Amino acid sequence: MKIKNQLVLILASFAIILSLNGCATVPPKETFPTYNLNGATYYPLIALCEAKGISWQYDTFTRVVILEKDAYKVSLKAGDNLVLVGQRAMLLNYPVDIYAGTIVVPDKFKTQVIDVLFKEVSVPAQRLAAFPVSTVIQKVVIDAGHGGNDPGAIGRTGLKEKDVNLDIARRLALLLRSEGVEVVMTRSNDRFIPLNTRVKISNHSRSDIFVSIHSNANRVRSLNGFEVYYVAISRNDARRALFASRNANLNLDNASFAGNSLELRAILWDMLYAYDRAESIQLARSICRSVDSNLDVRVIGAKDARYEVLREARIPAVLVETGFLSNYNEERMLKNSAYRQKVAESIMEGIRDYAQALASTEVAKQ
Ligand SMILES: [Zn+2]
Repeated sequence: MKIKNQLVLILASFAIILSLNGCATVPPKETFPTYNLNGATYYPLIALCEAKGISWQYDTFTRVVILEKDAYKVSLKAGDNLVLVGQRAMLLNYPVDIYAGTIVVPDKFKTQVIDVLFKEVSVPAQRLAAFPVSTVIQKVVIDAGHGGNDPGAIGRTGLKEKDVNLDIARRLALLLRSEGVEVVMTRSNDRFIPLNTRVKISNHSRSDIFVSIHSNANRVRSLNGFEVYYVAISRNDARRALFASRNANLNLDNASFAGNSLELRAILWDMLYAYDRAESIQLARSICRSVDSNLDVRVIGAKDARYEVLREARIPAVLVETGFLSNYNEERMLKNSAYRQKVAESIMEGIRDYAQALASTEVAKQ
């Protein structure tokens, strides 16, 4: 993932922040000067803010501007056409720029954000388009658990986990592909794939995230709920993160460098692993939140685990347990294709929220 090292960069940028603060104290103006840059009309941002009573903050180091008024917050960055409006991202047709020593914004930003958001009757953020997953996540591995002669859990009425997993995996693949995300499936039909093969497929695919789909079973038949696992870790995360932060500029793909010493290579993998683990937790939590708000099901939560498919993954990886086939009610629900579609859609929304959070961190970083 291109934003692998963002954590470190954020830490670095926190160290040197020179920020200017602005408040709306100047009386409103009726007209603004405009500039013509690259064939587009631009407005001076600070003048717009002062006229509308919007408070603004500009970080000269990251070149990020944050606008706030009432419940609304907008983040934008000089040189970039990605703008975050509340929790949603939007793309401008021209980038925010600096001209004649001041920050200028293209007219689309004025008409579609400033004029719409920052006035008496505000438009709720939900009415803006959903964040496009493919701006951050280009490729996803979907792993339908079990298959072939390995049925996984079997419900009381005979529903097999391998079939539920595959169906939800296919539905999720369809949703992702419909948004331009490339999908690699470890299996797309009913066949047995060993765990290490699943891991190999994942690690060789150069994907951004790995999502394994399962359904649960327990001898306690009353047990029910949805849970998401991320990889467990035994060694000291804090030390690893500290090491990682000091070595942000190492190129992990540089095999000749890593090949110098086995020990060094192990450390490099550990670093990569630590980043991915933090992201795995974020992804797991996003999926849980989405399921909690979209499905009528008990959300057990995000937990750590030592599943082989997760432990060996070199990218953010989660394992979703969509429900308990051993529970009468959940087996009945998972038997229903409309419900399986809703499960896939909820996972999709969780991935979207995760992608959006990454995008906003990236904007903050720059
Ligand atoms: Zn399973």
